Amino acid sequence: MTAACLMSTYQPLALSFSKGLGTRLWDQAGREYLDAVAGVAVTNVGHSHPRIVSAISEQAGLLLHTSNLYSIDWQQQLAQKLVRLSGMDRAFFNNSGAEANETALKLARLYSWHKGIEQPLVVVMENAFHGRTLGTLSASDGPAVRLGFNELPGDFIKVPFGDLAALEAVQHAHGPRIVAILMEPIQGESGVQVAPPGYLKAVRELCNRRAWLLMLDEIQTGIGRTGQWFAFQHEGIIPDVMTLAKGLGNGIPIGACLARGKAADLFTPGSHGSTFGGNPLACRVGCTVLEIIEEQDLLENAKLQGERLLARLRIELADEPNVLAIRGQGLMIGIELKQPIRDLTLIAARDHGLLINVTRGKTIRLLPPLTIDEREVEMIVRGVCRAVSAA
Ligand SMILES: *Cc1c(COP(=O)(O)O)cnc(C)c1O
Repeated sequence: MTAACLMSTYQPLALSFSKGLGTRLWDQAGREYLDAVAGVAVTNVGHSHPRIVSAISEQAGLLLHTSNLYSIDWQQQLAQKLVRLSGMDRAFFNNSGAEANETALKLARLYSWHKGIEQPLVVVMENAFHGRTLGTLSASDGPAVRLGFNELPGDFIKVPFGDLAALEAVQHAHGPRIVAILMEPIQGESGVQVAPPGYLKAVRELCNRRAWLLMLDEIQTGIGRTGQWFAFQHEGIIPDVMTLAKGLGNGIPIGACLARGKAADLFTPGSHGSTFGGNPLACRVGCTVLEIIEEQDLLENAKLQGERLLARLRIELADEPNVLAIRGQGLMIGIELKQPIRDLTLIAARDHGLLINVTRGKTIRLLPPLTIDEREVEMIVRGVCRAVSAA
């Protein structure tokens, strides 16, 4: 096989898998790995879950696509489930995270249009990641994703993540033009950055005071990843807009933008749309994922195993001079090292039968399926220790 016909956007490891089951993957030589990446927070209920397998195959034999010219039963069912779990009012379905965030940004534009704000600004966070379309790239930060793509659409104003004083300052400087804040509750791509306690609540209060939309990108943190359905539920707040993707389809592409209150009624027939978005296959799988998480009590497991994993890593890596910080919530954990991580780190873990991810060059990111057990937590701890000492 040759990769020469592919554009050079990725630098894949020399590792390729032929099957997966639960928390495990097997490479082409038949070697088994514990998957602590889950396709970047996607396969939250594990690989080849029998209920997902039968939902996909049954739906494939019935109906894959009819378009949104017709009503789609599974789409309505999934919207109803998500609305019930989140406290939001209405949903729109896309095919990816970036598209879901585009949907949110379009809601912010409509919101400002109704308010008669001519040059609206959306506040975003430093080191944010919201996707790769031109719009979501504009809302994202850092040369790693933006270099070479100027001029990106403007209308964003950036503040440091977790810094309330900076938010107050932009409010004073640009108050009347600001219409929304778009942020990740925990920043994933920039190395699992957790905001200080109370930050999200204070952001919510500021949005209430100024009638700004609070738009939370839960694409990585949502669907049980942090031990709640959505990360905002830890904080006792509710956003006006929330985006989902990744774990919602467990590998079948799907995105969703949910909205509440005034934000839920902004779109009118024809003002937004998608050919594939909300098709019966993706929505049926989405429904099945949510049912599995409920039936297998995976929120509780993610919370329990996440706390265990974080505590065990803190103990085992306590004397490791390479480690700068260990942080996270539920099964979204980052181990930041003092110097850039070399490939050796990934190889050390791989040779130990463990798959881990490195983000922003310096942080080992763990995103195992929500189904992992205590024994697998120990396997991850051992593999990570080995990787850190090889780094
Ligand atoms: C992955 C991710 C996205 C982009 O999702 P795609 O499906 O790749 O477009 C956006 N925001 C966050 C927080 C993500 O983790």
